[in-house]
This record gives sequence, C-alpha cells and structure tokens, in this order.
Amino acid sequence: MTTTAPSTVEEVITRYEPVIGLETHVELGTRTKMFCGCPTEFGAEPNTQVCPVCLGLPGSLPVANKAAIEATIRIGLALNCSIATWCRFARKNYFYPDMPKDYQISQYDEPLCVDGYLDVEVEGQTVRVGIERVHLEEDTGKTLHIGGATGRIHGATESLVDYNRAGIPLVEIVTKPVAGTGALAPAVARAYVTELRDIIRSLGVSDVRMEQGSLRCDVNTSLNRPGEEWGTRTETKNVNSLRSVERAVRSEMLRQAAVLDAGGKITQETRHFHEDTGETTSGRSKETATDYRYFPDPDLVPLAPDPAWVEELKAALPEPPRVHRERLREQWGVSEHDMQSIINAGAVELIEATVAEGASPDAARKWWLGELARRANETGVELAEVGATPAHVAELQRLVDEGKLTDKLARTVLEGVVAGEGSPSEVVAARGLEVVSDTGALTAAVDEAIAANPDVAQKVRDGKVAAAGALVGAVMKATKGQADAKTVRELILSRLGAA
Ligand SMILES: [Zn+2]
Repeated sequence: MTTTAPSTVEEVITRYEPVIGLETHVELGTRTKMFCGCPTEFGAEPNTQVCPVCLGLPGSLPVANKAAIEATIRIGLALNCSIATWCRFARKNYFYPDMPKDYQISQYDEPLCVDGYLDVEVEGQTVRVGIERVHLEEDTGKTLHIGGATGRIHGATESLVDYNRAGIPLVEIVTKPVAGTGALAPAVARAYVTELRDIIRSLGVSDVRMEQGSLRCDVNTSLNRPGEEWGTRTETKNVNSLRSVERAVRSEMLRQAAVLDAGGKITQETRHFHEDTGETTSGRSKETATDYRYFPDPDLVPLAPDPAWVEELKAALPEPPRVHRERLREQWGVSEHDMQSIINAGAVELIEATVAEGASPDAARKWWLGELARRANETGVELAEVGATPAHVAELQRLVDEGKLTDKLARTVLEGVVAGEGSPSEVVAARGLEVVSDTGALTAAVDEAIAANPDVAQKVRDGKVAAAGALVGAVMKATKGQADAKTVRELILSRLGAA
C-alpha cells in the first residue's frame, strides 16, 4: 500500500486527533533584574548591565525582586489560578555558556500559581485552555555565533556571550494538554497566545513583544489515533510570531501524520521552526526533569505571599481584554461578526489607537482591514509591523476629510508610508500628490477642457448634464488624477451655466 503524505490539517484529522500544549516565557518589564539591582533595558551595549550576582561570581547572594513576584501573582490571578501560600525557588542545573552560574534559578515542584484557565474564542466557539502553572525564574544571557551563515552555532568560527539579559525576571506559563480541538488546533494555539499577550499587556507587566523576545513560545504537538492513548509529543522552540505559532502546529500535525501513516514512530525531541519555509527540523532530544537535578535554592528564603495582599491584587486587576473588546465593539457600533474579523486581523489595538488619534472608528477600520491588511498578507507580516502607525492612518484620513487627498490618492500616499517614505504629509510633499484645490488652476483646466470640446460643452449648455462626464474626464487627465472629481463637475456645470 502506498500513501501520500497528508497536505491539509482536515485530512490529518480524518485519522488522528491532535493534542497541543503551550509553554510561554514572558520577560517582565521590571526596572531591575530578578535577583540583583542591575537595569533591564533592552539594547544596551553588551555586558554593561551586569554585577557579581547576575554574573554568578563566588560569594554573591541573590535577593528576590518583589515587583517581579507581584507581577507573577497578578498574571496568575488574571489566568484564574490559585496562588501558593508558600513556595520556593529551585536550582535547575545545566551547563551552557550563556548561564554564568551553570544553574538557573527557577521554580520546580512549588510554582507560585497553579491550576487556572483561559477562555479563547475560535470561529465562534469558546475553547477553555487549562493553565497548569505560572512560575517565576531568571532569564539566561545571549550567545552570538559569528562566522556561520545563519547565526547558528554550526559553521561559526567564534561565539560571544552577552550577559545583559542574564537574571531578567522571566515568567513561564504552562498550559495543560489541550485535546479535542481537531482541525482548529492550530487556530486555538494562536488564539491562546494572542489572548495571553493581550492579558499580560493589560496588566502592564511586560511589553510582550514577540519580535524582541519578551514573549517567547514553545509549542508542543502530538497526534493519536481516535480511542488510543496520547501520542509522543515534540516541542517546537522559540516560535517568534503569532502567525508562526499557528503554522508550527499545522506543520507538526502534517509531518507527524506522514511519519505515522508510513508506520514510523515520533521521537520525543525539540524542533526548530523555520520562518521561511514554515517547517520544523529536528533539534536535540528532550531532557527530562531528572537531567536537571532540581533542588531548592539554599540562598533564597521561601516565598509566602500574604493572602490579604493577594486579595488586594485580585480586586485591583484591570478589565479583562475580552470585556474591554466588548465595550469597544459597542462604542464602534460594529457587529459581533465584524468584531471577530477585527480580532482575527490583530487590529483591535491598532483601531483603538487610531481612533484615539482622532479618526472615526469607521475610517480607522476601513484602512486597517482594507489596504493595510492586504499589504500585511502579501508581505507575510503582522498587521502591527506593516509599516504604518495609528498616527499615520489618522493623519491620512484627516487629509482626506480636509479635501486635500482623494480616496485614490490616499491609497498611493499609504503605499509611500508603508515603504518608509515618512508620514502622510511628508509623502504628499515629496511625491507632489496633493489634490489640486487651487480654484484658479482648476478653473483654467476646466476652461481648457471646454475650449477643446465645444460640442460637448454645447450639449451641457442645452441641458444634457450627463454629457459633462467627458469634460470631467478631460480635466482629471489634465490634472493627473489629482483633482477631486466632484468639485470638477460642479465647476464645469457652473461655468456652463447648467448648475
Ligand atoms: Zn546584576
């Protein structure tokens, strides 16, 4: 029997059921690191934000950052978790040059927050994603491989280590296995990370920027035949955009189904996602917990958050993004279906910000879901990264409302903005795209058109107003489309005494 590899998720689920799980790391936006007073700003010169504690020098002692603990508890509460009344940090031992102590301070069997959930909406269905745990740990440094083709260690001639990131507080959020989502599994994974990002942003504890690595996601995927035990899972590492989260699940579902169809077995391993091909390749075989030789960190006191303080934090949580979105939907006067399109396009915050910059909700929606969404789709980037900002869109619409741009010209201006030519006004000035609104110039163009088409002009004078279209066309041509057709028409009729 020959089988061809499945080409769609729909085909995969005719034979297999997917189970997914997500491990998300969030770099907290605290002013200082997790166990020392070093600053955490992104982009500083390498190894300028370090001290004996985060360099792991002998004799240095860590002290836990209270702001990080508070932020972690607030994330746990927003994810409906129970908060531990007593827990400890543990040492996770492994050898890697970007970790100066050769152990990472993390939490093992005593996480700060456990057993919560997050509801996400996918294609009109609510899917409850269970949260296994939310714990606090420190980030590692960063290794740069020089000389290799892709920045990877293979083929590199030397490696450099930057410890600025070492010790930045990192929250790890682990879901329970999510089963029963069928062909929606890739979309559920994306919806979960999106919702999680929105919640964390609403708490103001991290800027959650995937492209800068302050939100990083590992995606676990397995397949099993209906009625059988869950299959062996693979872990796809550091998937760095929302779109890639969805693609990583889809690609693993297709790959694993092909292996299983051919009678093969899935190896438990980590895999790397490749942005360019949308496929994963094998990484290292997965360590198990025993490889890490966890034990409680003797340098740190246990954490025992006062339940009264936890209650205070809970009472002060902000409006959940789902509730916030519903309020926006009513303010913008859009249907639930349209709001779902806005959410799917990743445009909620962009439209909200554009409205805050002075555009009407309808205009903001038109640009983000129209031209800009099309552009983002074509170039394969997130809408927020398309190259235009809410301020640009609001300015563009203002120029249209003021009659300085026609809709058609505005689209051309937007192309310039997206291409990095500057703000709408700058593009208008640089490309000379402003509507010809100078009445003198326009009247001259109209008179020329009338003089060049005496027959048509006579028809209009005789009351055949529809004939004016030919004259409008002539003026538009003469002004290279930079006149407002309605104004031109009015001007022609008035010059011919037909208005
Ligand atoms: Zn330090």
